[in-house]
Amino acid sequence: MTRTALITGITGQDGAYLAQFLLSKGYGVHGLARRSSTADINTARLKWLGIENDVRIVDGDLTDLSGLTRTMRDVRPDEVYNLAAQSFVKSSWQQPILTGNVTGIGVTNVLEALRLEIPEARFYQASSSEMYGLIQEPEQSETTPFHPRSPYAVAKVYGHWITVNYRESFGLHASSGILFNHESPLRGIEFVTRKVTDTVARIKKGLGRELRLGNIDAKRDWGHSRDYVRAMWLMLQQDQPDDYVVATGRTTTVRDMCRIAFEHVGLKMHDHLVIDPDLFRPAEVEILRGNPAKAKAKLGWEATISLEEMIREMVDADLARHSTARR
Ligand code: NDP
Ligand code: GDP
Repeated sequence: MTRTALITGITGQDGAYLAQFLLSKGYGVHGLARRSSTADINTARLKWLGIENDVRIVDGDLTDLSGLTRTMRDVRPDEVYNLAAQSFVKSSWQQPILTGNVTGIGVTNVLEALRLEIPEARFYQASSSEMYGLIQEPEQSETTPFHPRSPYAVAKVYGHWITVNYRESFGLHASSGILFNHESPLRGIEFVTRKVTDTVARIKKGLGRELRLGNIDAKRDWGHSRDYVRAMWLMLQQDQPDDYVVATGRTTTVRDMCRIAFEHVGLKMHDHLVIDPDLFRPAEVEILRGNPAKAKAKLGWEATISLEEMIREMVDADLARHSTARR
């Protein structure tokens, strides 16, 4: 029998790749998307992957419990992937309350709708390595204490614990994936990797000269979204729900990630990079490095795409976008 999945945040980076992955496994894929006056733009990622006609979009918002409940009743998914969030750390200082309502309380709304309508369904929560913030251990695992450093991360800690709580309180098959940064050609342009690859492509095409960045000493454990959505699915195929760190185990500075992008197109980073104090954050997460040992042992999951391969793929995609845009 065809299995059915509901993805909140299907118009985002991970939503698009997860939809593609689940379609390849034969799932019927439904996606919750906010009503927008620019619906054609919102589905751009699904179009890029050529799957916009293969998924069914359902109108909804994470802050609207009544709509979520109706959606659960109508779609009756076997698996629910809660990927929707206000996901950009820097914006979370500008919009702390909205971030709390969507990224935090929104998780409870989805869990409540699921518990009331389809308690047998399996649930995935998109937790984040940002929860570790001011790191308490050099390598972060499922047992490392959290110390969030932004309104976004605080909201994600709430979302993580409410998922654990609904599992313990109501016996839901609810799992939380603590995913470290993951990127792709579909990453939002405001995130540092995509900002870098897009700007490098523009400079190469003669459409710009400068790349303005903030803290280039920050270190992240970067993987590829295509790899990471596979881990989400694997979590929901286990007999028992649980929490897993999903990471590569390697950490790299923003500076070195940036150098990979410039070198790929034969340009020198120091000819173009400008440090802009306005791009520093009120509180920074200086370094993250995940320990994916549990995901490897229990899920048989491992990252397969290196940072170098991913950045080159992203630069090439941005070069192609700018070629098309100029025609
Ligand atoms: P994106 O920002 O690309 O996508 C976020 C999605 O959430 C979009 O589809 C957006 O819709 C939707 N959304 C935002 N607000 C609402 C709302 N109020 N109601 C319904 N939908 C809403 O994020 P990613 O795909 O990169 O990440 C997916 C999830 O994983 C997020 O929860 C993120 O916080 C988390 N995460 C991501 C990591 C990463 O490195 N990518 C690392 C760890 C966790 P719209 O298109 O309308 O804006
Ligand atoms: P985050 O880890 O979820 O906050 O992902 P980002 O890609 O937004 O940021 C990763 C790191 O890059 C953070 O430590 C930022 O401070 C740093 N960084 C430096 N310059 C920039 C910039 O111009 N934009 C963004 N988004 N991040 C930057």
